[in-house]
Amino acid sequence: MKEDQREKVLARLRKKLDANPKSRSKAIDLLCCQCIFDPMAMGSGGWRSQVGACLNTTCGVYNLRPMPTGGYDEDDEDEPQTEAILTNEEK
Ligand code: SF4
Repeated sequence: MKEDQREKVLARLRKKLDANPKSRSKAIDLLCCQCIFDPMAMGSGGWRSQVGACLNTTCGVYNLRPMPTGGYDEDDEDEPQTEAILTNEEK
């Protein structure tokens, strides 16, 4: 069931990238989600939260990774996320 959730999120991100194949942000969304998202990680939030919490500062896309939206995003999981909006510019 949780693995289905991961696949559903990845499929939505792939679809967005397919619709806009030159979009760097959509490519990075998919890359980061594929890299880190684990729906079994209890209490770690949705895929954006998990990517936002990534600690791999040596990764080439670290400063470009997606952050939690602070509200419902269609490629989030089932529930709206309530985390504060964080952007790379606010760091
Ligand atoms: S920034 Fe983090 S989550 Fe994104 S690809 Fe790099 S290591 Fe993975």
